Amino acid sequence: MTLQEEIRRRRTFAIISHPDAGKTTLTEKMLWFGGAIQMAGAVRARKSDRHAVSDWMELEKQRGISVTSSVMQFPYRDCIINLLDTPGHEDFSEDTYRTLTAVDSAVMVIDSVNGVEAQTIKLLNVCRLRDTPILTFINKLDREGKEPIDLLDEIESVLQIQCAPMTWPIGMGKRFRGTYHLYNDVVSVFDPNAEKGTSEIIQGIDNPRLDELIGDQADELRIDIELVRGASHTFDREAYLAGKQTPVFFGSAMNNFGVQSLLDAIVELSPAPLPRPAQSRAVEPDEPKFSGFVFKIQANMDPKHRDRIAFIRICSGRFDRGMKLKQVASGKLFTVSNAITFMAQDRNTADEAYAGDIIGIPNHGTIKLGDTFSAGEDLKFTGIPSFAPEIFRRARIRNPLKMKQLQKGLHQLAEEGATQLFRPIASNDLILGAVGMLQFDVVAHRLQFEYGVDVIFEPFDVATARWLRGSDADLKKLADKHGFNVALDNADDYVYLAPNRVNLNLTQERFPEIKFLETREIY
Ligand code: GDP
Repeated sequence: MTLQEEIRRRRTFAIISHPDAGKTTLTEKMLWFGGAIQMAGAVRARKSDRHAVSDWMELEKQRGISVTSSVMQFPYRDCIINLLDTPGHEDFSEDTYRTLTAVDSAVMVIDSVNGVEAQTIKLLNVCRLRDTPILTFINKLDREGKEPIDLLDEIESVLQIQCAPMTWPIGMGKRFRGTYHLYNDVVSVFDPNAEKGTSEIIQGIDNPRLDELIGDQADELRIDIELVRGASHTFDREAYLAGKQTPVFFGSAMNNFGVQSLLDAIVELSPAPLPRPAQSRAVEPDEPKFSGFVFKIQANMDPKHRDRIAFIRICSGRFDRGMKLKQVASGKLFTVSNAITFMAQDRNTADEAYAGDIIGIPNHGTIKLGDTFSAGEDLKFTGIPSFAPEIFRRARIRNPLKMKQLQKGLHQLAEEGATQLFRPIASNDLILGAVGMLQFDVVAHRLQFEYGVDVIFEPFDVATARWLRGSDADLKKLADKHGFNVALDNADDYVYLAPNRVNLNLTQERFPEIKFLETREIY
């Protein structure tokens, strides 16, 4: 296969959802339909292990698993699918957001009972930063949920994205009989006892076989479909690829139902690896030379093995084991013979990877978040941001003689993206920011084991942060007035730490010449 063909058959995506909407179930079913796992329950077993423990150290004992489940690669039809995990529940963190900068598309899972939920909104907003194309899967149709038309309205109004129903459900809950594909004119009949959730495929909505099988519900469906065709958007590929419209599928992941249509859509509709912006130029995926960037760093918590894995999204060309890659920021060459690849069936044996794929490179802290790697060119990929934290803590130490180690540790952990660090200009406080609570546990543990610092985290009265852009004079004016709220981040960038939304809005009104940004590019 040529380089172009290999790249064109890649699909790299992540699933976004609120906890309990069914992401794990759907992931597992996708792997199963892709032939990558034999048995239902494999992914679930991992997750329930992780759930059974509240203690983060325990959680980390599963780390071998969490690294390999960070990326799941499997074949489907003639494509190679890379499904990137977006940690949720207790392990929700900035990595969850940042992973979305490494994909070409996303699948949004909505629970038909609960509709659009808080974390879905947050994750969708992250997708919007890059206009990532989104497919929607409305899950749990086997339960009595909201009316499908109401769910579409809710998605459109809350998430501000057009919905184009691709399939339409026939009943729900106890009356759930399957889905009708609006574009293929095919009814998939639901049967919870059938191996793949479907007992029969019926061609044509007017097919009398439909009446035989589902009785009165056949005519109800015909009326519904006429209404739906009149009242909803038709699928528009351009609008989908621009992130303006989401094709919607209905199903029940637990019952394997609808999963295949979704996978087919990933193959048929979702984009192959897209060009990526770098500072000097846009990089096309099928350029022959390798390039990629680091979107996540995962530390090994075992004190005996202090290595870290840098996850690199390949943006162009091909990776071969033993290849020399240039870390552009330092100019250093890495000979990469121990890269981790993620083929779900046959882990670690792949010796090559292509644009769209992810590789993991073990290192001892020399690789930083946001780093670009190339075959020699001085490229710097953009679009890898830090996100405004939502939880803040003040770091204190029991032993004041360890202040230097604390500062050094926090600086390095912030560079890895484990936490964000802020130093208010009017105090000596060290303030940590995160989007998930677990991030603080990780930092405390790593400070202890890697830097010998026993840290205490205290609540700190800040609700959110904004990076500031403005003239030196304007920033100074703001800093003079609100010195306790203006801080420098780990890269010495100015940040406003707002005690609440009202304060943030007022300050923004009072300083209209300053821009308050929710994300900051990592340089
Ligand atoms: P996650 O937190 O988004 O990964 O969600 P899970 O995949 O763990 O699912 C949460 C719960 O919903 C579990 O108890 C699943 O068994 C259940 N669930 C998942 N899919 C379905 C479905 O199609 N129908 C029903 N009734 N329950 C489902």
